[in-house]
Amino acid sequence: MKSIILIAPPAAGKGTQSDMLVEKYGFAHISTGDMLRNEALHNESIKSKMENGELIDDDTVFALLEKRLHEEDCKEGFILDGFPRTVNQAIKYDSIVDSLGVTSNVVIYLDVDRDTVIKRIVGRVSCPNCGKVYNELIDGLKPKVLGKCDDCGIDLSKRSDDNPDTFGNRYDQYLKNTTPLIDYYLGKGILYKVDSDRGKDEIFESIEEIVGGLSD
Ligand code: ADP
Repeated sequence: MKSIILIAPPAAGKGTQSDMLVEKYGFAHISTGDMLRNEALHNESIKSKMENGELIDDDTVFALLEKRLHEEDCKEGFILDGFPRTVNQAIKYDSIVDSLGVTSNVVIYLDVDRDTVIKRIVGRVSCPNCGKVYNELIDGLKPKVLGKCDDCGIDLSKRSDDNPDTFGNRYDQYLKNTTPLIDYYLGKGILYKVDSDRGKDEIFESIEEIVGGLSD
């Protein structure tokens, strides 16, 4: 069973690369952000934290994640998109990784400039029904019909935390809490860095080189 962790600044394209990996290799895509947005529908405290770009507490995130990892579609492998986000979360994950049956454990770091991610959030929209993410300003990521989901045909919407103020907070959280993970995983010898100031297909080629070489 393969465990692929994606680390990147907010709005760097983890979701887009995850979708491409799912399509090519059939892995399960586990986005803690998507799971939490779902929880936020009936939990005011989670909703307001997310709207401010703050992190949700480790216990809440871990409880959701652990349940998800035991679902049938994770048997071959899974992509963790947005988890771990703190060293504490990484340590907790390491404590269960063997019992999950993980044989290949890799971390892919999408290295991208702050200016690039700011440009990416301006045009980012997604489908409220299937969750597919588009970018109305970037060729190759645009929906076929402006403002409509290719698959569901319904109106695309903007995430409430994709605005310049919240983005600043999310980026600060990333610098403070998430970048220490780079050294943590370098120390374990499982980190691969991918230059992500490039188009989505070029980024994916580099990711494929890493994932294609993993044993089962
Ligand atoms: P992005 O990577 O673009 O910031 P995500 O969908 O991954 O978007 O995350 C959105 C929000 O969900 C975060 O700003 C944070 O509030 C919350 N979140 C997601 N994953 C975690 C996590 N592992 N730990 C704590 N909070 C999380």
